[in-house]
Amino acid sequence: MIQQRVQALQAKLPPHTGLLITSGSNRQYVTDFASSAGMVLITPDAATLFIDFRYCEKAKEVVKSCAVALWDRGLGQVAAECRRLQVQTLLVETEQVSVAQMGRIRAAMEGITVSDDAAADRWLTDARSMKTAGEVDRIRAAQQMTDETFAYITGRIAAGRTERDVMLDMEFYMRRLGSQGIAFDFIVVSGANGSVPHGVPGDKPLEKGDFVTMDFGARVDGYRSDMTRTVAVGCVSDEQRRVYETVLAAQTRSMAQVAPGRVCKDIDAIARDLIDNAGYAGAFGHGLGHSVGLDIHEAPNFNPRCDTVLQPGMIMTVEPGIYLEGRFGVRIEDMVVVTETGYEDLTHSPHELIIL
Ligand code: ZN
Ligand code: ZN
Repeated sequence: MIQQRVQALQAKLPPHTGLLITSGSNRQYVTDFASSAGMVLITPDAATLFIDFRYCEKAKEVVKSCAVALWDRGLGQVAAECRRLQVQTLLVETEQVSVAQMGRIRAAMEGITVSDDAAADRWLTDARSMKTAGEVDRIRAAQQMTDETFAYITGRIAAGRTERDVMLDMEFYMRRLGSQGIAFDFIVVSGANGSVPHGVPGDKPLEKGDFVTMDFGARVDGYRSDMTRTVAVGCVSDEQRRVYETVLAAQTRSMAQVAPGRVCKDIDAIARDLIDNAGYAGAFGHGLGHSVGLDIHEAPNFNPRCDTVLQPGMIMTVEPGIYLEGRFGVRIEDMVVVTETGYEDLTHSPHELIIL
């Protein structure tokens, strides 16, 4: 299965062209092996993972899609292999490589044209947007831990606990469930702090009448989950309830339209129009969703600009929100996989307003 990922890239490479993969998630995508360093060189008929001593023994045991070489002589070693394979043009991930790194690669690859064409980024982004059943299984397992963590924390949210304390409680519980680290820094924001979509949990205690927005996810074999729920502490005002119901309606209606053949920006528009028409124009200032995989934010996106057509195997979040500056915010986020006929919601936590 992983071999097919390398073969698909090889099929796109013209003769005497190489592709150098340096970023962690693309490297893991073509090797199914996680490491903090290393490079993969792919040519039309060869593929090698260059990896240092810390990982080499394990990589030789588990990596099936590439040859594995002990990497102990820097970029010169990769350049020598390029010359041996008669590479004349080398593609790099232009979206991932820093200016400094590009300079080092060019200096090492003397006599070889290091291209700044973004073709390789497009190939990798497109390939990674279509999840295999194995990838979906890992994301599903991560989401299951996320749902379990939500059930756990709803029993423990109470006035007086701080945002940071709740965040740490969730993180510890999720890691005990078996999550490999966390999918991203959890967001736990309450009351007026909730009007900042990506606020940082602080020492503010939860208070009666607060909305608490929790955005969090787990990781299984490098694959991530992403979910948000907003709950209330003690009670809610009529306005809070109206905002919550508006966000939920925006999520329900837009998610219901997820299916192969639908255009991403049209799904975004369903939620955005509903929120605007409910009197909250301007209060939903981010895209409706994004894909998730080895990275927490992948392409395609549900936003007003994304023309990508949904296809089976794509994983998308559906996360409308309303943020009232200085007052409160609500976001509800599920993660779905596009199927042959529509979608499957991977998130199983309740959507209705929970008052704790
Ligand atoms: Zn999220
Ligand atoms: Zn998200």
